[in-house]
Amino acid sequence: MIRTIPLILDSASPAHTSHGAPFNDTIARHGVSTLTAQTISTIQVNIGKLCNQICHHCHVDAGPQRTEIMSLETLDAILAILQKYPQISTVDITGGAPEMNPHFEYFVKECRSLNRTVIDRCNLTVFFVKGKGHLPQFLAKHNIEIVASLPCYLEDNVDEQRGKGVFDRSIAALQQLNALGYGMEGSALQLSLVYNPIGPNLPPSQKELESDYKKELFSRFGISFNHLYTITNMPISRFLDDLRSNGHIEQYTELLINSFNPSSLQSLMCRSLISVSWDGKLYDCDFNQMLDLTITPPSHQTISTFDFDLLKHRRIATGQHCYGCTAGAGSSCGGSLS
Ligand code: SF4
Ligand code: SF4
Repeated sequence: MIRTIPLILDSASPAHTSHGAPFNDTIARHGVSTLTAQTISTIQVNIGKLCNQICHHCHVDAGPQRTEIMSLETLDAILAILQKYPQISTVDITGGAPEMNPHFEYFVKECRSLNRTVIDRCNLTVFFVKGKGHLPQFLAKHNIEIVASLPCYLEDNVDEQRGKGVFDRSIAALQQLNALGYGMEGSALQLSLVYNPIGPNLPPSQKELESDYKKELFSRFGISFNHLYTITNMPISRFLDDLRSNGHIEQYTELLINSFNPSSLQSLMCRSLISVSWDGKLYDCDFNQMLDLTITPPSHQTISTFDFDLLKHRRIATGQHCYGCTAGAGSSCGGSLS
């Protein structure tokens, strides 16, 4: 039976509010009686919570003190799955700062040798961590797609959300990537940026913001990139703490619920993706992973029992946090949904 987070939950979830219809009731009213996966074309791998930054909005609660790192054994188990199931065409590597896992480069090379598209969710400043200066060249050599966070083209806004000095280092990193061909016209090296709102608001139109970003980053710093993805902040973990301490939790939850957009349901990322945590457990998405809302069926909850045929049409575990994916234009790791 489909799992749903009840309206009253633990403190890690936004669903402790008494506002709003349960997510499953809302989607049922729009003809989706059970949210199910349609395929698994992407495996999103969270290879650790270690990060050189401590951002205010981080839903992973990552930082320099975190010790959770995916082992070589688990990475090899994922490679074996990729070998077995060619249907999984994309490996989306996230963290923490994924590059801080000591096996990152091994994993990337092996995924590429299996001919998979590889995405590195990069915070850009990791290029300036001791011993990581070669990363831009490494990523370019292996044709790794880079998806990098940059919540604004203005220094104050970025530093407020991501820490002092992050903006300057991010700009320097983007300039390095451009010099290698990333994000440049006619180049195969793909560079996309991620915007997420600084406060308790929905992102603006992705198309319009992308055009502003392109204009501003090029005129101020000579920077080019391919796409901008606008992502709604999920009210879990550190962003939830921020909402709570600023007294915005009820208002933000209501905003997400009242902005429900049924046209986002078809392309929710959980319908074509499976997420693996640093310790090899399987989840429907990175957000469910952070809430420890495990996958069904229970007998296939780790990478060692992965069964493509059983999981490709699984029922998805949902909760009130799912309103974060269906609000406004919809939201996913690949930006807005409509
Ligand atoms: S948002 Fe990204 S860069 Fe910031 S702390 Fe979290 S994982 Fe690190
Ligand atoms: S949080 Fe979003 S991606 Fe995850 S299960 Fe809910 S709707 Fe799907």
